[in-house]
Amino acid sequence: MTTTTTQPIVTLDGQQPRQPGLPSAPTSPSETHPTNPRPDLAATVGHTPMLRLREASALTGCEILAKAEFLNPGGSIKDRTALGLLLDAEHRGLLRPGGLIVEGTAGNTGIGLALLGASLGYRSVIFMPQTQSREKIDALRISGAEVRLVPAVPYRDPDHYAHQARRYADELNGVAPLSAWFADQFDNTANRDWHEATTGPEIWQDAGGRVDGFVCAAGTGGTLAGVGRALKARNPAVCIALADPAGSALASYINTGELVASGNSISEGIGSSRITANFDGAPIDLAWSIPDDESVPLTHQLLHQEGWCVGGSSGVNIAGAIRLARKLGPGHTIVTVLADAGTRYQAKLFNPPFLREKGIPVPEWLARAFPVEPAGT
Ligand code: PMP
Repeated sequence: MTTTTTQPIVTLDGQQPRQPGLPSAPTSPSETHPTNPRPDLAATVGHTPMLRLREASALTGCEILAKAEFLNPGGSIKDRTALGLLLDAEHRGLLRPGGLIVEGTAGNTGIGLALLGASLGYRSVIFMPQTQSREKIDALRISGAEVRLVPAVPYRDPDHYAHQARRYADELNGVAPLSAWFADQFDNTANRDWHEATTGPEIWQDAGGRVDGFVCAAGTGGTLAGVGRALKARNPAVCIALADPAGSALASYINTGELVASGNSISEGIGSSRITANFDGAPIDLAWSIPDDESVPLTHQLLHQEGWCVGGSSGVNIAGAIRLARKLGPGHTIVTVLADAGTRYQAKLFNPPFLREKGIPVPEWLARAFPVEPAGT
């Protein structure tokens, strides 16, 4: 494999080559579409289609729109985050040609970093909780990352995956300075800034400037904070809402100022027990805690009735969009994101015995698709 240490990184419009490490600011992305042919993977991140969710719109009398982030090259919205973090690290001279990317991730950011790393000539080591879906772990492995699965422990535990990743990078840098770069998606605000510079303006443009509300779940908080800031800058009346999975403390934090969590969720990559630097100060007007028996059926319906196969966090986002539409009333335009694909969670989201065990309704079509095999066959 050739290394690409001298190849330019291309901004999202695919037109302004930039050498890694050059002291130019990461250029603000163009609001025009990239031109074909695209020179590399980075030039295929973002500019996703904006979809109209037919059933959610009909149900509420609002226009419910969603950015199809599962169509990014690595399959999730976190490709954007990975690109923003990488460009910022290169700009600040933290990532040298041929260097090592180190990150702690629930999976999607790692996939984005590993694939962009492959394209740009970087290696990656990813720390990930072993509770994440087999599909994501496998995707990360085939993306070329060295995957280190670690027990899922609370953030306050020094063995939390993010602390292990930071320690590992620090150790390497202690021996050879600047040999490893810890991406730090939770507390590196280049994450939020990139969404503010790209995802938010795209949403505004795709919706023709008619956005009354934006809602999504938060993991790092980069998407919600960045898009929220971009939209409020264009129209301060845009309502920004958090859709939080059960088991997360963020909705309680917004509503009461206390970090209190209850319940749990099969969704992955969203929810938090702490306020990350990316989430801190996000312009959030409303917040709801969304139970799985509300969100998961929405992913099943979206697939069965409209053909879009999305993951659990997207179900939480659609539930949030419906709640926000009901709050604002008919005639409004609500935007959300479909963060990744359902195929990344097939063994959970589309597995009737698993769903029943979790008390989540199994639609008839899904039960028929996976009939219980008689014993002994
Ligand atoms: N959905 C999925 C599937 C994710 O992987 C993530 C990120 N962990 C999010 C939503 C949340 O995005 P953010 O980190 O920008 O809050």
